[in-house]
This record gives sequence, C-alpha cells and structure tokens, in this order.
Amino acid sequence: MAAPVRIVPLGGLGEIGMNCMAVECDGRIAVVDCGIMFPNEPLGIDVIAPDLSYLRERRERVGAVFLTHGHEDHLGALPFLLRDVPVPVYATRFTLALLKPRLDEAGVAADLREVVPGDVRPAGDASPLSAEFFSVTHSIPDACGLALRTPQGTIVHSGDFKIDEHPVAGPGMDLARIEALGRGGVRLLLSDSTNAERDGSSLSESAVGGALEEVFERARGRVFVACFASNIHRIQQIANAARAFGRRLALLGRSMDSNVRLAQSLGYLDLPAWMPAGFPEARDLPPRELCVLTTGTQGEPRSALARLARGEHPDLSIAPGDLVVLSSRFIPGNEVAVGQVVNDLCRRGAEVAYEGVRPLHVSGHAQQAEQRRLIALARPAHFVPIHGEFRHLARHAAHAAAEGVPRRDVLVDGQVLELLDGGARVVDGEVPVGRVYTDRDELLGADIGALVVKDRRLLAEAGLLIAVLAVERSSGAVVRGPELFAKGVAGFDGAEEAIRGEALRAIDELSPTARASVAEVQEAVRVAIRRWFRREVGRRPSVLPVVLEL
Ligand SMILES: [Zn+2]
Repeated sequence: MAAPVRIVPLGGLGEIGMNCMAVECDGRIAVVDCGIMFPNEPLGIDVIAPDLSYLRERRERVGAVFLTHGHEDHLGALPFLLRDVPVPVYATRFTLALLKPRLDEAGVAADLREVVPGDVRPAGDASPLSAEFFSVTHSIPDACGLALRTPQGTIVHSGDFKIDEHPVAGPGMDLARIEALGRGGVRLLLSDSTNAERDGSSLSESAVGGALEEVFERARGRVFVACFASNIHRIQQIANAARAFGRRLALLGRSMDSNVRLAQSLGYLDLPAWMPAGFPEARDLPPRELCVLTTGTQGEPRSALARLARGEHPDLSIAPGDLVVLSSRFIPGNEVAVGQVVNDLCRRGAEVAYEGVRPLHVSGHAQQAEQRRLIALARPAHFVPIHGEFRHLARHAAHAAAEGVPRRDVLVDGQVLELLDGGARVVDGEVPVGRVYTDRDELLGADIGALVVKDRRLLAEAGLLIAVLAVERSSGAVVRGPELFAKGVAGFDGAEEAIRGEALRAIDELSPTARASVAEVQEAVRVAIRRWFRREVGRRPSVLPVVLEL
C-alpha cells in the first residue's frame, strides 16, 4: 500500500493571486509557490498574503519550496514564510534573481538553490516527494511547471503558462516532456485557469513586436510605453522597435530600472551600448529620439505613469505630441484607476494607445484551446483546476471533462484532496486559510488584521461620529454634552440638536443601576445615535461614545 498524498491549497484557488500549495505525504511537506495579491480597495493595505499558519504549525515537516516563476503572486509572500520556516528554495535563475533582493530587503537569509529545466530535486532529506522542473512559456523569463513524484504517482503542476509556439527568447514550452510524462502516467494535473473563459488560443508574445513597430512608425513625438517590469521579453521587443527607429531608451519607475539592469546583467535582455539614456540627458533629447519605458500599467497612484499624468514627475512632463502606449491588460478592479490616468494623459495633450485592434499586449496565460492541449498531452487520470476565481476553475474543469479526464474536482483554498490507492477524496474544514492584510514595509511584522480592514471599510462607507459627554460620578446625571464631532458623516450638519436630544433621552430611559455604569451609558448613546441616523438619513455611521466621570 502506497502512502496517501494530500494536496493542500492555501491560496490561489478561488481568487486570482496569492498562489500557494502544500503537497504532503508521510508527514513530509513540499510547498509550491508562495505569493501575494494586491487589494483593489484603497484602504491603506499594500499587500494581501495567504494565511500560512498551516505551514508554520508544521514547520519541522516542511522540506522545500519549489517556485514556478518570479511573479509576485507566486513568490511575494516567501519572506513571510521563510522567516518562520527556513527551508531550501528551488527555482530557476531569473526567479531567484527577482527573489533575492526582496529577501535582502526583508532581512531574511535563505538557502536559495538554482535549477535548470530537467533538474529533479527532493523536498528535503528522506522525503518521499521530489520535483522535476520543465520549461513553460509565460510573461516572464525562466517560467517552469513541475512534475512532482509521489508514492501516488506523478502530479503535474502547470505553474502559470501559455503555449507560445514562437517565443521571443528562451527554451519554449517543453511539450515533448509533458507528452512523455503523459505516456508514463499522470495521476493528477493541476493547471492554470486564469483565461479559462477565453476561447481559442492566446497570441504569441512575438505578435506584439509588429504592432509596436507600427506604433513607432507613425509616432512624431516622444513615445512612452508602459508595461510590467518583469515582462522582459516585452521590454526586449519595445527596445527593438525603438532601436529600429533610432530612439534611445530611458527608464522610469524603481522596478523598471532594477529589472532592466538585472535582466541585462544576467543576459536576458540585449540592449546596444548607445541605447540607454539617463536623466537629465533624456529630457534634452529631440522628441523623435526618445522612448521612455515606464511602470504604472494598472493606474497605481504612486507609479511613474500616474505621476507623469498628474504632472508631478520630477524628471519629465507630458506634452502635446507625445504618444503613450499601454502595453498591458487592465486587471479587473483597476479599470477606474487606469481610466483616470488615461484621462489625465489626454488632458495634457498626449495620444494614448491601448489594447485595441492591434495586439499591443498579449496575455501570458493559456486560453481554452491551449488548456485543452495541455490536458490532452498529459492525459491525467484526475484534474484539479488552479489559479483562478471560482468561475474560472469551474470552466476549466468543464474543459477537462470535454477532454475525457475521468475525474475532476473543483477545490477552493482549504479544501484538501487526498490521493489514495485506487481513489481520492476531498476533505473539508481541516485547514485554516484566509487573508493576511499587511503593509508592504511591514511584510515581516504587522498583520493589519481583518477587523481593522472591516472597520476601515465601514468608515469609508458612512463616516465616524464621536459623542463626548461628562456625567457626575455619584448620581450619573449628565453635566456636560454630548458634544458631537463628525468625520465624513452625511446628514450631520444642522442635525446636532436632534441627535443630542436623542442621546439624552436614551440616557434618561436607563434604570438608576444602568446609569451608574459607564459602559451601559456608552452603549445607550451609541445605539440611540445609530438608530437616529438609520431612521432619518438611512445611513449607519460608526459611533464612538466617550463618557467621562466627574
Ligand atoms: Zn505569472
């Protein structure tokens, strides 16, 4: 009898982002990816990480972390994990190069072990689990999928992938290896669901090159191109188009600057020596000789592009005749912020080009036809869709059914799949999962806390009202107040007397015993004011009563 294997999703199943999965066998654990996600509510939260307490509580059993690629939603929470669970991290060169500075910044020492596709690595000493890396195509160099060897057979984890037949650089997707794994028998396929709702196939990354050249061809002034700083193949194509038209390249944004330097030094990006232009030199170049590469594709207010749009960038300003190309997709939830940036750019006289007829951007994730092709090659006995909201997972499972996969399970974070001899079962409710809200600078320290976030949301919706009153200690009689102070409360102005009256009546109605208790008086004031607002304004501001005993 072979030992059962447990698949424990801790993040990324039921949401886009914070991907993290534990694979467990015989008391040993391997972790695949450990990412973060970004909130789309402006509530002072920089980063959302998965709840990793399941791994912390079993730290001596965790043998290794295997990373599929260098995106934040796959490695951003690692400092968080490695601080408490210091295990070796296996990843390809570019992935480690992106990870290293984050760990340094967080002051976390780590045992980083570089792999190349084809390598097989055990998940710790004497672990029954090991991982083989195979190359996939995605919107970042060096992306991999994993073939996990377990006593219950081979588990293929796709990582994030698309099937790009004409990649800009790199080894391409190793379809032959996946097919060979399929011939050998794949017990379970875990596959990227992000684009399960899109029919057909994604366009090749190399299709963007031609579209960019057309844009550069007609540009008469400066060209600004915004893209993800980790999309090195995109940056290479932008640089190629700029070079073809004699433009030099200036970089805006911290991550753009550091990623371009990193990719250049590691040989992932090829720029001629004359090409990079620093500041202030770039500012003085003739408009037709400059291409500016910038961050800020998602409308992030502190990004270089947003600051350019607002006219607040110290190095450059947008002027009529400039062309701004958004070489990216608007991530759902960010449309309003991006729209604001586009409006501001247009107001300054720039022409703004984004995803339209020409492919100025292509997705890094497989669409339906590619997802089905992977399933057909791997021929798994069992399929679990990963990386997506529930609708993406459900759709992807339907694709697997259409490909004739005998068993499919749609799991969300916290639902455990147990692979057993001759079967499998889903176990619910054993694993704590959730979201940890944090400040980027505090990734190692402070969890802002779900309650704090809930309070912020309530304050944003209806504001805060503070009621201060003084009572006589012996009798409980109100001797002063309540004084009312409101922040962001609709219906407050002009209603102070009425609110005060409502609060005083509520105190009057208390029994003598209740009136002697500060807590009871506070609660009565709170309830009365809330009731008044609900009745008169139809709103429920947060009410904070302060009772002082004299
Ligand atoms: Zn990715």
